[in-house]
Amino acid sequence: MITIWDVIKKIRKIHWIRYKDPVPEELRGWSHHAPPVRPRAFLGLGVSEITNRYCETRRDVYLRRVLRIKNFEKTPPLATGSSVHKIFSEASREVRKILLSKDPLREIEKTLEKAEYISKNICGEDLKRYCVKLYKTLILSWGSEIVRERSLYGGDTITSLPWISELRIDGSLIGLSDRLMIDAIINLSTVVEIKTGVERDFHKTSLAGYALAIESNIEIPIDYGILIYVNGFPNNEPEIKFDVIYISPDLRKEFIDARDEVIDMILGGKDPGFSKECPDHCPFKTFCRG
Ligand code: SF4
Repeated sequence: MITIWDVIKKIRKIHWIRYKDPVPEELRGWSHHAPPVRPRAFLGLGVSEITNRYCETRRDVYLRRVLRIKNFEKTPPLATGSSVHKIFSEASREVRKILLSKDPLREIEKTLEKAEYISKNICGEDLKRYCVKLYKTLILSWGSEIVRERSLYGGDTITSLPWISELRIDGSLIGLSDRLMIDAIINLSTVVEIKTGVERDFHKTSLAGYALAIESNIEIPIDYGILIYVNGFPNNEPEIKFDVIYISPDLRKEFIDARDEVIDMILGGKDPGFSKECPDHCPFKTFCRG
């Protein structure tokens, strides 16, 4: 599983990309007073509304924002994604207790005993066994890092710090919601996005959105992001993959362009039409296809 050491090792390998292609001031979130970061309108958008490309015409955004459709379906992939996010969040909260404990090994044991109870409250019956394993995997990975650092260095180090998960951030200065939810942040410098399902390029663009929002809000630079893919549901075996991404000037421009396109579409109020291919899990299928 992913520890802060794993992240640091990967970031070391991509520092040179940042060195060769640094982020100019005008593409930092704190440059929200002027274009391109300043939006044409402040509509309180969510990052996924801007970056998700599951619907190629963006009719999903039109339905939600222009026609104000709210009672869309919570399809199985959405429910699975939500359970996985909650398990990550619970595990990172519990790891903070392990960090504060004088006896981390005992605390890990106690925390593992809660796996069934926590999973029962978060996941549906079909996903319960998977959630128990995922929760235990996270606790053991992060907890063992704390035990390791204490035994090696006689105390906690920066790499034993847990992630801060499910963090609210105000993205309103750049036209986003004032209550954006960020999956996690590591060491106040790297933003984390957790995904289930297949890898898509536009997931990287979301990282740029969150980075710009954090920069606009608390004025610290966010140069790296982590995409974590959590899968393995059919076999009940958590499969976790991650990649560290440099939030480059191009990725930032991509996000800003996508944000401006969505703003124009909403302000124009024109139906963008149907997508040629609609994914099975689209929560708007009943509205578009009847
Ligand atoms: S059903 Fe198709 S057209 Fe409608 S929002 Fe979903 S993907 Fe887009």
